Amino acid sequence: MKKIAVLGSTGSIGLNTLDIVRRFPEKFEITSLSCKSSIDVLAGQIMEFRPEIASVLEKKDAMDLKSRLGGSISTKIVFGDEGYKEAVSLKNVDVVVSAIVGSAGLKPTIEAIYADKEIALANKESLVAAGDIVINEAKKRNLKILPVDSEHSAIFQCLEGNRKKEAAKIFLTASGGPFRKKDISEFKNITPEQALNHPTWSMGAKISIDSATLMNKGLEIIEACVLFDLPPEMIEVVVHPQSIVHSMVGYVDGSIIAQLGKPDMREAILYSLSWPERYETNFGFPDFSMLDLNFEKPDFEKFRSLSLAFESALVRKSMPCTMNAANEEAVYAFLRKEIRFDQIFEVVENVMNKHNVFSFSSIEDVFYADHQARSKALEYIANNH
Ligand code: NDP
Ligand code: MG
Repeated sequence: MKKIAVLGSTGSIGLNTLDIVRRFPEKFEITSLSCKSSIDVLAGQIMEFRPEIASVLEKKDAMDLKSRLGGSISTKIVFGDEGYKEAVSLKNVDVVVSAIVGSAGLKPTIEAIYADKEIALANKESLVAAGDIVINEAKKRNLKILPVDSEHSAIFQCLEGNRKKEAAKIFLTASGGPFRKKDISEFKNITPEQALNHPTWSMGAKISIDSATLMNKGLEIIEACVLFDLPPEMIEVVVHPQSIVHSMVGYVDGSIIAQLGKPDMREAILYSLSWPERYETNFGFPDFSMLDLNFEKPDFEKFRSLSLAFESALVRKSMPCTMNAANEEAVYAFLRKEIRFDQIFEVVENVMNKHNVFSFSSIEDVFYADHQARSKALEYIANNH
């Protein structure tokens, strides 16, 4: 029985994780759940899964949750940084599903590693912001970080059973998002409602906007470099609108191994939890008779996020963290309708251009760079909307 802590249990990945747990009661058990403030949903999850601990961000939500649950449930309700720490550090936890959105996921993920827990990692922002620290801390403790992101799960699967040193190219597939065919001159008119409407994947708001700007792919370039210890030159982004080929690894002899499946995050989540085994599901296979699989080159001019990400991946040190934090602020400003869609690129580029790169010697340096980039981004947004 694998005992699981879910960080971000009320989000898109969190809900899919619980769907997996529900399907395999003999394999998985929930030990702790956590979210920011969706206490209605969390209360329902607590009633169903009866975890030892549930954590939320604010004390008032913890109090509210407690009174909602009454005295009948033994789940301990905690809050804040200490709460998340307690939720991931429980002796009974084997694996932490890291599915908080944004760099808010970094601290709890690091705490989970410090507590010697294996990580099923969805929160790509923590690897982008603090990749070397996260990977080194995990390595020191001999802990596995298994990818939940479908592309990285695909790369992981395509590398399994092969020699990594014989891999020559990573083909990172991208759906291209909802604006693949839109002319760049129309980008300024794109509304949040249009950008949230992803053609193939159903996801949380922030990653949906990242998918529309292709910054999601940008973050994934860095995530792949960090997770698999690869130089950015090895990564090629391939637009594949049907999202059936989840990514591919090309080897030195010209052979390419691809991983395919339906665009359903549950498959990657399950593999991150069942590895090295595969558990039987009724998810089924794509219907190839109904599918035309297409592959295109990405448009770097339209989607400047890709160039910014490659630049960050080359520079490394504090640059990816800066890019990520500026992007987060820009995405939320766009969702609040304070800036236009095309200004998301502008904000990120501006903050990156002004950033003085430095090396991280501790996690505090990461928080400092993150904070600096957010202030700069917010300043730029305030002056330009
Ligand atoms: P959602 O927005 O759907 O969910 C985010 C979750 O994080 C919610 O449970 C939310 O709680 C919680 N949360 C947000 N802020 C905080 C905070 N400050 N402290 C504690 N908890 C917080 O996001 P997704 O599930 O879409 O994405 C989660 C992560 O997985 C992201 O990093 C994303 O890039 C990655 N990912 C997602 C994929 C997808 O298909 N959705 C695919 C691959 C990767 P509350 O509900 O209370 O706000
Ligand atoms: Mg992905």
